[in-house]
Amino acid sequence: MKLDILAFGVHPDDVELSCAGVLLVEKAKGKKTGIIDLTQGELGTRGTAETRKLEAAAAAKILGVDIRENLEMADGFFQNDETHQRGVITAIRKYQPEIILCNAPSDRHPDHGRSAKLVADAAFLSGLKKIETTDGGTTQEAWRPKYVFHYIQDRLLQPNFVIDITAVFEKKLDAVKAYGTQFHNPGSNEPQTYISTPDFLESVIYRHKWFGKMIGVKYAEGFISEKMIGFDSFDGFIKQNT
Ligand SMILES: [Zn+2]
Repeated sequence: MKLDILAFGVHPDDVELSCAGVLLVEKAKGKKTGIIDLTQGELGTRGTAETRKLEAAAAAKILGVDIRENLEMADGFFQNDETHQRGVITAIRKYQPEIILCNAPSDRHPDHGRSAKLVADAAFLSGLKKIETTDGGTTQEAWRPKYVFHYIQDRLLQPNFVIDITAVFEKKLDAVKAYGTQFHNPGSNEPQTYISTPDFLESVIYRHKWFGKMIGVKYAEGFISEKMIGFDSFDGFIKQNT
């Protein structure tokens, strides 16, 4: 299946926290969307690989994505090396996305920056014909996505552009809350973590409000692009006084 937009996250819930709104916006326009998690988040203090798998499936259903896969790399210890790049290249060639979304280039969790570089490097290498990969015994065609955009997760990074997600914001939050073991849950007996306090969820909401304020809408998600972004005309802009 060919996808229009493929979002990579190193941990199940990275995509929900950072770019699920855009996936919902594009899905509503009829685009094919997908999520690939690099790891099962097995080092997380709360929950287990198994509970996170169920939560990821529930979130995928809320987001209406066409595919969600897990590459089962080692949480905390995967590397940006040939073996891991080949794994990501195989996934990119399988789904031939026009746009890739991936982790923030640097963040509180060191996995995020490493994953960002791994996916961006693999997206480039995927376009080189002489790198041979197979999927189910079939040799894959080279494929290079047109754009790789980094979403913004924990550290406050300056986005190059933001996208209005006001219309889908409640649904995005539902997808985040599908991770009942990870985020604030008064019924949980597990140890409190950086992301399980009520303040954390509030900070996620406020982040999107802040990005929204930049363009005169209620909520937005921000992205960083290493490549220059072009427009057909000024019509694509939101015309608000800010
Ligand atoms: Zn993460």
